[in-house]
Amino acid sequence: MSQTGQFREGARVGVLTTQPLDRVLDYRAPEGGCGVGDFVEVPLGPRKVLGVVWGPGAGDFDAAKLRPVGRILDVAPMRDEMRDFLHRAADYTVTPLPAMLRLATRAPGLGDAPSMRKIYKLGSTVPNRLTDARVKVMDVLRSQSDAAFTLKELADHAGVSASVVKGLVGLGAIREEDSPRDLPFPVLDPRQPGKALTDDQTTAAQTLREAVRNDRFATTLLKGVTGSGKTEVYLEAVAACLASGRQALVLLPEIALTAEFLDRVEARFGARPAEWHSGVTMTERRRVFRMLGQGDAQMVVGARSALFLPFQDLGLIVVDEEHESSYKQEDGVLYNARDMAVLRAMLNDAQVVLASATPSLETWANAKAGKYARIDLTARFGPARLPEMRAIDMRDETLDRGTWISPTLRGAVAERFAKGEQSLLFLNRRGYAPVTLCRACGQQVGCDHCDARMVEHRFLKRLMCHQCGETKPIPTICPSCGAEDRLAPVGPGIERITEEAQSVFPQARIATLSSDMFGSARALKAEIERIASGEADIVIGTQLVAKGHNFPKLTLVGVIDADLGLQGSDLRAAERCFQLMRQVAGRAGRAEAPGLALLQTHQPAHPVIQAILGGEEEAFWAAEAAQRAAAGAPPYGRMAGIILSGSDAGAVFDLGNHLARNARPLLEIGAEVFGPAPAPIARIRGRHRVRLLVKAAKGAPLQAALRRWVAPLTLRGDLRLSIDIDPQSFY
Ligand code: ADP
Ligand code: ZN
Repeated sequence: MSQTGQFREGARVGVLTTQPLDRVLDYRAPEGGCGVGDFVEVPLGPRKVLGVVWGPGAGDFDAAKLRPVGRILDVAPMRDEMRDFLHRAADYTVTPLPAMLRLATRAPGLGDAPSMRKIYKLGSTVPNRLTDARVKVMDVLRSQSDAAFTLKELADHAGVSASVVKGLVGLGAIREEDSPRDLPFPVLDPRQPGKALTDDQTTAAQTLREAVRNDRFATTLLKGVTGSGKTEVYLEAVAACLASGRQALVLLPEIALTAEFLDRVEARFGARPAEWHSGVTMTERRRVFRMLGQGDAQMVVGARSALFLPFQDLGLIVVDEEHESSYKQEDGVLYNARDMAVLRAMLNDAQVVLASATPSLETWANAKAGKYARIDLTARFGPARLPEMRAIDMRDETLDRGTWISPTLRGAVAERFAKGEQSLLFLNRRGYAPVTLCRACGQQVGCDHCDARMVEHRFLKRLMCHQCGETKPIPTICPSCGAEDRLAPVGPGIERITEEAQSVFPQARIATLSSDMFGSARALKAEIERIASGEADIVIGTQLVAKGHNFPKLTLVGVIDADLGLQGSDLRAAERCFQLMRQVAGRAGRAEAPGLALLQTHQPAHPVIQAILGGEEEAFWAAEAAQRAAAGAPPYGRMAGIILSGSDAGAVFDLGNHLARNARPLLEIGAEVFGPAPAPIARIRGRHRVRLLVKAAKGAPLQAALRRWVAPLTLRGDLRLSIDIDPQSFY
């Protein structure tokens, strides 16, 4: 599928591979020639590797030794704007280009010949007597005659076993056909009417529709409380985009949210869009990749990595819950999908919609400065109102040792329970107890590989390190002093709150929601649906529940420890706490019953707690912005984190000191360098970690200076250096 054969057979071409090499390699164009953007397989040493024709060859490689490109793969060539995007994203994140290309080629089997699979359709013979099971199969085929079912799909749809289908094939009632595996996605119909919108929603939707029709780049913050209909509104923008023949991408922060969202898309546009996240099978990934490239998929719903898919004509990117920290990839290539979405849209003359009830300060500031448009949805849809928020001053409450639900909160839950309404108890801490302490020697049980405590997970009956995932059985003997049966859990995790709730409310049906408690996204989804349908009286959850699920019967939210987010020296601690508390509170009172949110706190007068209770969002952001501006912190200044790691602590520190002493390229742009200092988690998986922090003025050419700074380094042994532009976490 070569473009125009820009390079004739034998011509020298430059190929960017996904291998960690710092340059584009020269090859000869294959028989029939090739074009810029072609996906190719090239020989590299004894191996064959994936690459993309990047341009003419550099010409500095001995012509006699040039090897020809192996073959051109049967996928649409990479578009110019995609190559541009990868370049710019690599520049921005100070990442080598091959690593960026790897993000854009995460569909295994791209080079495979399009394989075939068997599909099942109505046959020509109509048998006269059929068993019930067989009738079910025939009914499915008759009612969906243009669908292509695999054996399993057909059997599942009909609710019968595969042998029933096979039996019908034997009778000639069903035909078995070979069909290419990578089928186009079903067509979405943007002309189907959506829900009747309220006045506010209509105005917002119209603004977005017009913006999309302009075919020009722009970014809009769509701000609205949970339940105000942001999703309904941005689906109108999607409709406008699809109607104009362009493709749309909707990014969600959490896989668990996709199922519910796919249903809404199907209800709105009559078919399901393509899906892209870590839970999608390899063959399906390949299908998404190919179909997007050739324009046979109109819409993708996915996780942050969907940003690197080969859209043929991307017209709209929606980033839902844009403030979520999960949009920042924290290993490998360190990028923020929200920011990269804006970059990608700019290069595609596309629209960006950033939706949130509690935008990030960055986005809030960009809207304030007029760089982004802003649309506010102030009212909740229908009779639902924002919950009332109150603090429970924990200094006035009397609690038994080892309990965390205050009498006031207990009373409020009891009231809801009596009325058949749901309560949510929120604690952003997985596991049973954050600390396991020996009562004999006072030592905490730590991870062998990390500078972190082991967290007891009683449901799993193990201790777990939340840094490296290592688990071990809960010991009976203290690993430090050998005392027997003296280990005790200290502090609450969500499992311990569950235990407490069970003993206080023995009659209540209690559901616990935490990301580590479900083996699969499907199991989690099932549990969420169970809760939504009212099959739980008390829901106990971590921040997983804060993210956009609809629980219509929920009228009370109790935050076990509202002070938890205020701790820590993190730049964004206040912002995060504010966002999380507002979001969790937003879970209550979505339907007719009004909601109440109670925050257990020891610091009811703390400015952040006050801002949460008062709901004075603009005032909170303005104050937060003023503080950051005064400190030259993002978004009013720029930051980069440097993380050094290695198995030899001395060598890691030496490298840090060397960098700090040779920071001339940074000083030249007026930047400051702090550190080296041991990272807050000074050891992970046996590797010692040291951090440096670089601060620069907003307009300073930070990335170029960073590149000049680290370029002379050679990393010996297992030393690693990674650069984190606009760091979100500082662990
Ligand atoms: P948000 O994304 O702001 O949290 P949603 O779009 O999910 O809000 O809307 C919340 C609930 O209200 C959803 O169940 C949605 O279907 C419903 N809803 C919102 N607007 C309308 C409308 N105009 N007509 C009917 N239902 C609506
Ligand atoms: Zn560990």
